[in-house]
Amino acid sequence: MTHDMDVVVVGGGQAGLAAGYHLRRQGFDFAVLDGDPAPGGSWQHMWDSLHMFSPAGYSSLPGHLMPAQAGETYPNAGHVVNYLADYEKRYTLPVQHGTRVRSVRRDAGRLLVEADSGTWRARAVISATGSWSRPFLPAVPGRSVFTGRQLHTVNYRSPAEFVGQCVIVVGGGNSGAQIAADLAHDGRVDVTWVTLRPPRFLADDIDGRALFDVATARRRALDAGLTDTGGVASLGDIVAVPPVRAARDAGLLKAKPMFGRLTADGVQWADGNRTGADAVVWCTGFRPALSHLAPMDLRGPRGHIPTNGTRALDEPRLHLLGYGDWTGPASATLIGVGRTARDAVREITGLLT
Ligand code: FAD
Repeated sequence: MTHDMDVVVVGGGQAGLAAGYHLRRQGFDFAVLDGDPAPGGSWQHMWDSLHMFSPAGYSSLPGHLMPAQAGETYPNAGHVVNYLADYEKRYTLPVQHGTRVRSVRRDAGRLLVEADSGTWRARAVISATGSWSRPFLPAVPGRSVFTGRQLHTVNYRSPAEFVGQCVIVVGGGNSGAQIAADLAHDGRVDVTWVTLRPPRFLADDIDGRALFDVATARRRALDAGLTDTGGVASLGDIVAVPPVRAARDAGLLKAKPMFGRLTADGVQWADGNRTGADAVVWCTGFRPALSHLAPMDLRGPRGHIPTNGTRALDEPRLHLLGYGDWTGPASATLIGVGRTARDAVREITGLLT
């Protein structure tokens, strides 16, 4: 069955919902197609102890403030899922869960969006598929030789499944630090944290609020045609959220430099010494989930699709939302995506009306 729409949004996480909010306000006929069977985007898949790095008041989509979570300054992932589910209902956003889009292609003056359950003909498409479904694992020597368990951030749930084991956590970003802290706090896991370069903790008083202020300053500078202020990366890599700070201060978070290779039963360090391991948790990041856009052949040299703001340079009917700073400062955060979504819908309004 083919449906005709003004706009199709692919992905119903926070970015897709923010787009939906602005499309609704502009009176467009639109659908949000989401591969997950339930609301919440990637937040519903995060590990058990995960808390946000920003307070609720700094984590809201347009129109509706995230309520505080009782007893928590930094809400947990379940609270975010509830907020997104409520947001979807509150604005009666037409989200079709369990609808995974296989491809978007050009067809007779429209964009054809194909999913297993149907086809949508759209005048414009907003792609908001995030990166959770594309975990990145680096090509480290010996990865195929290691006989223990290897998992990525996306598969990690809690220390309970590693009790009595030696676990190596790889990655110097927030996920690596938080998962290493989670395992170390538990006390029943022998954890070694490994980072490519010495970990760079942000000052203890810097959380998502300050990060957002930095991103806002960057956006203002870019909007005004001034020099790029460099965004949040210049401040450090790891937000010292309370569990990370506690583990670090207790001496439980001492990172070792990256090992040289994996062996059958562990790792070998640069000096030739070996450490046995039952599991390696790769907290090594993500890549944008863009395979559904492959038929349009838009990819640039770094695997991203070149954009001006959110608009694909070679396809003005396609906008990309979320993903990372390359689609707008703080576009991949709850508080930042509202502004980018508004700009995208404004451009689409100009194109279609
Ligand atoms: P997602 O949440 O990944 O949603 C994408 C949706 O698209 C999913 O529902 C998926 O099913 C769907 N989808 C994917 N492919 C298809 C397809 N082909 N067809 C149909 N649907 C598809 N941000 C903050 O603001 N504060 C924080 O404290 C914070 N903490 C974070 C902690 C971690 C560990 C991580 C990984 C990120 C954190 N972020 C935080 C960043 C950011 O808010 C999240 O990454 C956010 O989930 C991105 O939202 P999104 O809507 O772009 O993507």
